[in-house]
This record gives sequence, C-alpha cells and structure tokens, in this order.
Amino acid sequence: MIKSFEQIKRYFSHDIGIDLGTANTLVYLHGKGIVINEPSVVAVNQKTGRVVAVGADAKQMLGRTPGHIIAIRPLVDGVISDFEVTEEMITYLINKAQKGNKKLLGPRVVVGVPSGITNVETRAVRDAAKNAGTSEVHIVEEPMAAAIGMRLPVLEPCGNMVIDIGGGTADIAVISLGGVVCSKNLRIAGDKLNNDIISYVRSEFKILIGEKTAENIKIKIGAIIPGGGLREASIKGRDLVSGLPREVVMTDSDIREAISQSINTLIEGVKEVLETTPPEVLSDVMQRGIYLSGGGALILGLAEIIAEYTKMTVHIAPDPLTAVCRGTGIILENMEKFKDVLIVNEDELPPKK
Ligand code: ADP
Ligand code: MG
Repeated sequence: MIKSFEQIKRYFSHDIGIDLGTANTLVYLHGKGIVINEPSVVAVNQKTGRVVAVGADAKQMLGRTPGHIIAIRPLVDGVISDFEVTEEMITYLINKAQKGNKKLLGPRVVVGVPSGITNVETRAVRDAAKNAGTSEVHIVEEPMAAAIGMRLPVLEPCGNMVIDIGGGTADIAVISLGGVVCSKNLRIAGDKLNNDIISYVRSEFKILIGEKTAENIKIKIGAIIPGGGLREASIKGRDLVSGLPREVVMTDSDIREAISQSINTLIEGVKEVLETTPPEVLSDVMQRGIYLSGGGALILGLAEIIAEYTKMTVHIAPDPLTAVCRGTGIILENMEKFKDVLIVNEDELPPKK
C-alpha cells in the first residue's frame, strides 16, 4: 500500500545521496546504502573534450596517459572548477548507481557541498545535477551532512560542533536548530599536508617525491603528537642534483615538522569559530565536545591536539570517510524531517507577496 506522496515519488524514482568530495566521491542509494566510493578524478580527452574515464579508472590513468588525455580533479580548487566535467561526473555516478535498474522518473538527489560556498557555486552544482537527468535536486552543506551522518541532534536547540577535514578543504561549523550558526572553511586539509611533506623532503633531503608518495607516508607514519614510539619508513624520489632515484628514511618527527605550520593554522581556525560562537551555544559545545569527520580526522594525534588547545573533548566519527555520504542518505530517507537543513536558492523561494 502506498501511503504518502513521499512514497509515491519514491516508487517512481530512485533516491540518491552524493558526497562530492574533493578527494573522494561517494554515492548512497536508498534502501541499499553506499554503492559507490571512488576518487574524485576524471580523465578527459583534450582533443574531443570528452570524458573518457571517471573515478578509480581515471585515477589509474593519472601520470600514465598519452599527452592529449589529462586526468583532473574537477572539485579541487573551489567547489566546482570545471562545470562540464562535474556534470559528466554526476551523470556517470547516477547511471552507475542505478545500474540498468532505472525507474520511470530521474532520481531525486541530495548533494553535499562544502560550507561557505557562494550562491553562484550552489547554483552551478544544482544545474550540473539537473542536467544530469535528475528529477529533483537538494543541496546540503557538508558539515551539516556529516553531523547528521554522525547522528548528532542537529534539529534540536543545542550546539553541535563539527570539523570535517577532507582533501581540499576543512569545514569547521557549529550547528543548532537545523542551521549553521557559525563556520569557517579553510583550504588546509589532506592535500595541503601532502604538499607540505613534498616541500620538506625537497629542502631537507634534496629529493623530489610525488603527491602519491607524500600521501602514503603521511598515512603510514604521520603522528601529530610524539610519544607513540618511533615510526619510520623509507621513500623513493628523484635526487635533485644527480637526477637519479634515491631512497631516504623518514620518521614521524620529520612529518610533524613538515606539517606543523598547517596544523597550527587549522587549530587557529577552530579557535576563531569558537570565539564567534554565541555563549549559550558554546556552553552546549563545551558539554558535548567536538566531532571530527573526513579522512583528515584519521591522522594520529589530531583529536588529542585539538582537545589540548580547546580544552574540550574531541570525538572521531566512526568511519569518518563516509560520514557525509551517510548523512545524505539519512536526509533522503527522512526528507520531511530534514527539509529545513537543505540550502534553498533565492529563485526557488515562492514569490514575495
Ligand atoms: P573529501 O571529502 O575532500 O573528498 P575525504 O574525507 O575523502 O576528502 O578525505 C580524503 C583525505 O583524507 C585525503 O587527503 C587523505 O590523504 C586523507 N586521509 C585518508 N586516510 C587518512 C589517514 N589514515 N591518515 C591521514 N590522512 C588520511
Ligand atoms: Mg568530504
């Protein structure tokens, strides 16, 4: 028996949640859970302008393509640096998520976007998703989606602080009553730490390493607070003088030194948001603690150092890399309940009387 308008809509179209991350794109299919989890990379043939591969296939091509095929990360600099490519990517994801199992109408989608995105950028994401054959597009800010994914009581009159650290950006937000009370969006996240490591290795060891190597070593031995025992690993790069390959051993203290400046900036950002938080909301946050999500939340010692500087408890989301996507899924499955957390574009509001 179909009981409500919501259920009728659901009968004729798929409900899909998309986390358009700068590093990883995840897709949630109603009733199934997360069905796609791929790097946000697209390979484009520059001669024809066509997309030749998306996600893991495109990442595999990185650095291995003939000259006219380039692999790009369409979301890395700002929300939507390349409109057409983003549209093709969304189309690809929607088709892949439905897998020949299409319904009568295009899917209804909820897309997560970084906080602090401009109206123009929100519109671009909305249009890209519309052009990709969807029947309805709803947009939610990522820290809000992350908070919902972590099952925080975002609709209640109670302050919830979330820090989502992804590849390109870190979102710091305080949420209450279904809205973002104050927030800050920093360009300091996983990619910046990788670049810090590349610079450090170049100046300290005089070798050149690639981004992938830097990321691997960060994940393998990175630790923001010393004391967990010596962690070390060797890395291979190109000697800047001889031009030949050379191997060096790096320790956790090298990584700490390399990324310390960025970590300080991140902590400053957290403090700034706390300083602008209204007192009542701040007292909730002090009582409830701070919640971390995104891949960056996994760096050893980050939660501890934020706790030390803010004097608050810091919790890491279970499975931080999927929190935003799980949040979009929870919104889809409870659309009526969460309708107020969605971003509404000016021109979609009913005309003023
Ligand atoms: P986005 O939402 O921007 O796509 P993600 O939340 O998927 O980003 O996080 C990706 C980032 O998390 C990458 O920069 C990656 O290096 C980093 N990351 C993933 N796992 C770890 C880990 N165990 N330690 C440190 N950084 C990690
Ligand atoms: Mg993210």
